[in-house]
Amino acid sequence: MKVTRRQFLKLAGGTAASFAVVDLGFDMQATAAAIKELRIKNVTPTPTVCPYCASGCGLVVYSEKNAEGKFVRLLSVVGDPDNPINEGCACSKGSAMFNLREIYEPETGHQVVNPKRVQKPLYRAPGSEKWEEKEWDWILDEIAQRIKQTRDASFIHKEKIADGTEIIVNRTEKIASIGGSGLDNEECYLLTKMMRSLGVVFLETQARI
Ligand code: SF4
Repeated sequence: MKVTRRQFLKLAGGTAASFAVVDLGFDMQATAAAIKELRIKNVTPTPTVCPYCASGCGLVVYSEKNAEGKFVRLLSVVGDPDNPINEGCACSKGSAMFNLREIYEPETGHQVVNPKRVQKPLYRAPGSEKWEEKEWDWILDEIAQRIKQTRDASFIHKEKIADGTEIIVNRTEKIASIGGSGLDNEECYLLTKMMRSLGVVFLETQARI
C-alpha cells in the first residue's frame, strides 16, 4: 500500500491510532464493535467492599452470567475507580481477593472454590523439612500448650528501674502477636485483651506493616 506524505505526517503527528489506521485504508469500526461486544458479553460488574480491613476500599467483582442471568464463574476482582476511598487502587491483599476459597452467590447458591487454597492446618515439626496436615483440634491444643509453656518460662514479674527500685511489670518478651486485616473491631479488642492478660507487650497488625 502506498502511503502519501500527508498520511505519513498525520500518523507521526500523534493522532489517535484508530483514525490513523482508517487513514491507511482500513475500516476498524466493525472490528472495534466486535471486540467491544466480546469483552463485555455476559459480564456483570458488581461493586462491593473489601472484607479485609477497616480501610473499606471499594472493589468491583466481574462475573460471567449465562443467557438466563445465572452466575457462571468469577472473572476478576479489581479496585473500584468510582469509590472515593481508594479511587481504583487496592493493596496486595485486596487485589488477591479473587483467591478467596469460597465466594457465595446468593441467587444460585453457587460457591466458587479455589482448588489451590490450603484447607487444613499444616504443621512442620522442629528440624523437619516436611509439612504435615493436622486436625484443627490437635493444632489448637498444641498452640495453647506452647503459649502457656513459653509464657510461664519467660514471665518477668518485677524489674528494677533507674533508681534501683523494683516495680511490678508482669510481662513476657518471648511472644508477639500480629493481627490480620480480616479482624473486625470486636475481634481486635478481644485479641488485645487476651494478649495483655498473658503479659504480651509486642502487639502489631498486618494492616500497619
Ligand atoms: S485490605 Fe487492602 S484493599 Fe482491602 S480494605 Fe484494606 S487496604 Fe483496602
